[in-house]
Amino acid sequence: MDCKQLDRQYIAGTYRRFDLALTDGAGAVAHDADGASYIDLGAGIAVNTLGYADEGWVAAVTAQLHALQHTSNLYYSTPCARLAEALCRRTGMQRVFFSNSGAEANECLLKTARKYMSDRYPGVRRTVLTLQNSFHGRTIATLAATGQEVFHRHFGPFPEGFDFVAPGDTAGTIERLSQPDVGAILVELVQGEGGVNALPRDYVTAVYDYCRAHDILFLIDEVQTGNGRTGTLYAYEQYGVTPDAFSTAKGLAGGLPLGATLFGEKTADVLGPGDHGSTFGGNPVAAAGALYILDRLDDALLAGVRRRAALVRETLENAPGVRSVSGLGLMLGIESVRPAAEVVEGCRARGVLVLTAKEKVRLLPPLNIPEDLLRQALQILKEELAK
Ligand SMILES: *Cc1c(COP(=O)(O)O)cnc(C)c1O
Repeated sequence: MDCKQLDRQYIAGTYRRFDLALTDGAGAVAHDADGASYIDLGAGIAVNTLGYADEGWVAAVTAQLHALQHTSNLYYSTPCARLAEALCRRTGMQRVFFSNSGAEANECLLKTARKYMSDRYPGVRRTVLTLQNSFHGRTIATLAATGQEVFHRHFGPFPEGFDFVAPGDTAGTIERLSQPDVGAILVELVQGEGGVNALPRDYVTAVYDYCRAHDILFLIDEVQTGNGRTGTLYAYEQYGVTPDAFSTAKGLAGGLPLGATLFGEKTADVLGPGDHGSTFGGNPVAAAGALYILDRLDDALLAGVRRRAALVRETLENAPGVRSVSGLGLMLGIESVRPAAEVVEGCRARGVLVLTAKEKVRLLPPLNIPEDLLRQALQILKEELAK
């Protein structure tokens, strides 16, 4: 049996896959089992920060793999410690907890918020607000935090202590924040799975200011927006806010599973011995990959992200068949006249991989995609959008 048949027979039926089996890749180009090549504008859903098999990244990961693949969190180990230092230096945060995925990084964020509330406001504060149309993960707690009804079907009962407000509704959000049970708010600055919508800056600033004045934790889910994706190392830099804690994952280690929760001044010492843990969290091979990625995410690379983002917008905004372009940096959503699924299939047939988010076509290319390849792919996308 070929891999598609094996997959359909033996892997749990949770994924609707494209009829495509990728075997290998180099940079922004992937190959399938029949030898066809594709310019990949999805990067494994914002994970392959530097595309496939980046030479320096492979070398960094391989060197660590030859030295030591796992230690357990009972022992100190250099890659994880150095990565935490690099993340704190680059962000101004004070401590990091490492896990293996976005959902876990958010779970840690939520546990931290709950402990902060129970330490400081016992019996009073117990609710974490999130936004309608958000996405925070697939575990029971992160589903509960996700503000989309469709994700809640079938899986209740959920843990209590979550409530939802409308993104952009400043008065409504502040009204709910002012209730005595609320101790934290968690936001995605660009709602990714929700349709690639950037939150309005004045909304974020108003909520942030209210939180700071009332000791309500301002938490950010940077799982998808983080690690250079939006044109700055983290998206919050562009909003002029400093979160009390934030989560990240997807692109952090360039293609290896790694999640991180970063703590600022208020939250740095909330979790103590025994409060949280993870067997695989802070894996040295993933940490070595992330150290390499962080090193590459310098000013020049981030300027390149913004330049490529401008190129995409210039090419697609006002193009035939395009209603609007949304998002930030290289996290982009295209509202098309043609159904997004048809555009995706049309592109695939012509050697370009793009994604969808809700009813939009979604682009999350590798941050260093060569500009000639990007232009080539955009030309095909533009033609498919115009059909
Ligand atoms: C992908 C995503 C998650 C979940 O990450 P996993 O690694 O799949 O657990 C959480 N939040 C946001 C904003 C995401 O985009």
